[in-house]
Amino acid sequence: MIKQALYPGSFDPITNGHIDIIKRAQKIVDVVHVAVFDNPFKKPFFTSEERVELIKKIFPSDQGIIVTAFKGLLADYCKSSEISTIIRGLRAVSDFDYEFQLAHTNQKLNDNVDTIFLMTDLKYSYLSSSVVRQLAHFKSDVSAFVPKEVQYALEEKFNE
Ligand code: ADP
Repeated sequence: MIKQALYPGSFDPITNGHIDIIKRAQKIVDVVHVAVFDNPFKKPFFTSEERVELIKKIFPSDQGIIVTAFKGLLADYCKSSEISTIIRGLRAVSDFDYEFQLAHTNQKLNDNVDTIFLMTDLKYSYLSSSVVRQLAHFKSDVSAFVPKEVQYALEEKFNE
């Protein structure tokens, strides 16, 4: 049986912290489905298509990673994709409250679903997409936080 897991998130944009979680997930499942959430409650910086394309550029020929976008409830997406394992990353205790709520809500909506939490490397524990966007906005160097593909995409976006 091939073990598959969904790693859902906004990835607006993907950072080295997210990549660290994807690589850790690859050690425990055969296929990681990175699922970009098209969230109707948030106005994203990059469109969902742009976010998907960026992640595909970072993991171009890696067989173990599939990148998709989804709308609606994650529990429903788990059902339609027939994947019952969700991966989420934890940076610090501050992430826990929200993640706990989310995991229990998903379990309530779809009892087949289980969430696995992976701890990021300590060096990424302060890193978030929003910090990266703010730094890029003020033309600060983000090369330590995101891959070059993301760095170029941010520069391009802010120069538009
Ligand atoms: P969401 O809006 O769903 O929280 P994010 O793209 O911000 O989407 O995060 C997706 C997942 O990745 C979440 O589980 C989040 O805790 C985790 N994550 C975000 N940044 C990091 C990081 N620096 N290190 C590890 N995990 C992270």
